[in-house]
Amino acid sequence: MDYEAFFNDQIAKLKGEGNYRVFADLERQAGDFPHAVRHDANTVRDVTVWCSNDYLCMGQHPNVIAAMQEAVERCGAGAGGTRNISGTNHYHVLLEKALAEVHGTEAALLFTSGYVANMTVLSTLAASIPGCVIYSDAYNHNSMIEGMRHSRMPKKIFAHNDPEDLSRVLSEADPAAPKLVAFESVYSMDGDIAPLAEFCDVADEYGAMTYLDEVHAVGLYGPRGGGIAERDGVADRITVIQGTLAKGFGVVGGYIAGSSALIDFVRSFGSGFIFTTALPPAIAAGVLASIDVVRGQEGGAMRARHQENARTLMLKLREANLPVMPSESHIVPVLVGDPVLCKQASDMLLDDFGIYVQPINYPTVPKGTERLRITPSPEHTEEMMDHLVLALEEIWHKLDLRRDFPNAQHAAAE
Ligand SMILES: *Cc1c(COP(=O)(O)O)cnc(C)c1O
Repeated sequence: MDYEAFFNDQIAKLKGEGNYRVFADLERQAGDFPHAVRHDANTVRDVTVWCSNDYLCMGQHPNVIAAMQEAVERCGAGAGGTRNISGTNHYHVLLEKALAEVHGTEAALLFTSGYVANMTVLSTLAASIPGCVIYSDAYNHNSMIEGMRHSRMPKKIFAHNDPEDLSRVLSEADPAAPKLVAFESVYSMDGDIAPLAEFCDVADEYGAMTYLDEVHAVGLYGPRGGGIAERDGVADRITVIQGTLAKGFGVVGGYIAGSSALIDFVRSFGSGFIFTTALPPAIAAGVLASIDVVRGQEGGAMRARHQENARTLMLKLREANLPVMPSESHIVPVLVGDPVLCKQASDMLLDDFGIYVQPINYPTVPKGTERLRITPSPEHTEEMMDHLVLALEEIWHKLDLRRDFPNAQHAAAE
């Protein structure tokens, strides 16, 4: 076989569909968020970033930077081993304690990323519990799907954010079988939020465990930044809360929070936890500082401004008759509905207006729902918003883009 030809053919096919990914070459400027410097063909230009998942700019917070610098000076660069073999640093222990406090659980466990946490925990739980059946929301993230697949246990899909459909699929199961229901709180591509209390009611009725991915909500919702489960007062009804340290908390890493028994079980049997080097101590130190800011008064004010900015931008987009989706969260998706046009719109924003919004195409979202996913932060000003809306209006006009999506009309009518 001609392996090189195979790789090239596959890439050519992707390019033909308009789904080939090009990464913007950016240099973030600490203290100057949302501005960044963009490198392109030997030129550098200032851009305004509108698609960062460092939602609260915590990755550039002075306390976080100082804590990381201090920890590097004290402990060095790397952890020095897996958690079991000399890699557990005091910062890891403190961070796991802080995360358990944020979620009001008995314990928490760190992973190298949120992806690894989902992969490891879902596969370990489902594969270890004899006869376990998994119930998965139709829109669950790839990391959860891969974890479930890896467990090789039977999986049933229920309709997205639909407790009635969950009840229907659960009612078809053997009442004695152990069950695990997996869903997210904030869905990051549409910005909608799961009915957590209803899901818990249904899970309780059928004696199922609940697994909640709060990746796009931790640090952002709830009085302590404990996510939608904290906001809705249902954290104690969730068996496993999973989160990231990379988005709301602005650094890197993943974790789960739950009962001492559950955490000890995953710590002891989860291969994606056991067989990999621990996070650098400075990362844990940075996240500790981040959590401290986020759950304090400053964090509360940032959360309020974050939500306010998202509402303001949505309103401005609606007023301009742009097809913004009916988001209930801080995520503001604008539909384009075509991969080539979506990429084109994004390129024009960057090249003509110095605005960076990455196009979101298949397989991240279903074909025909390609979109620009905008994430306003507390640091985006009203001026920046007006500039963005003006740029989008011009691009919609130039490319003759659609405005008539049923979803977006629903939003406009709200
Ligand atoms: C980003 C993401 C993850 C993975 O988290 P990382 O810490 O970036 O690996 C998991 N679940 C969802 C829903 C995500 O969007």
